[in-house]
Amino acid sequence: MFTGSILIDKFYFVLFLSEFYWKGTMNEIYVDNLDITGVQVNYYFICKTKLWLFSNYIKMEEESELVKLGKLTHQSSYNREEKEVNLGPIKFDFVKRKECLEIHEVKKSKKMKKSHKYQILYYLYYLDQLGIKAHGILEYPKIKEKEKIKLTDSDKKEIKTLIKEIREILNKDTFPSPNWKKICKKCAYREFCFS
Ligand code: SF4
Repeated sequence: MFTGSILIDKFYFVLFLSEFYWKGTMNEIYVDNLDITGVQVNYYFICKTKLWLFSNYIKMEEESELVKLGKLTHQSSYNREEKEVNLGPIKFDFVKRKECLEIHEVKKSKKMKKSHKYQILYYLYYLDQLGIKAHGILEYPKIKEKEKIKLTDSDKKEIKTLIKEIREILNKDTFPSPNWKKICKKCAYREFCFS
């Protein structure tokens, strides 16, 4: 399922990159081994079972009221921004063009902050692999907090390891055994895992 190269058409870039940022040609771009999505990176930190289930098309997220609430948070807080820019397998909540490209990720609470941070670091890594310099802004509009995130060399090494570990989980024939934890109470997969 997760093999080979991802084809990214320049069309996706022109949605948010001006000539200032984009010095390439009109040719298509191939990005090797970057087929993991930001949601998968996020789930890696939340629950490995969830990561596997979600990645194997067992999707129950649409039914979750929490997911609906998360979407509403985006809509109500950022209705003047250009939203949900797709680039290959990843999707930015919205982007801004400043002196450097700014990738925004909007979350409703800080409870899973580590997963949020790595999600945005993965986006920055992805862009870096394409030769695009950017930084990230992690936003919590409900509590009016923002954090700027920059990709360091040590982050790059960590993200490479992370991608490898995610692939190992996804390549397993079956999902990792579910272990009950606090977040299971509100997880869309709860009945699947524990009924
Ligand atoms: S219910 Fe718990 S174990 Fe199952 S996928 Fe959700 S978080 Fe993971």
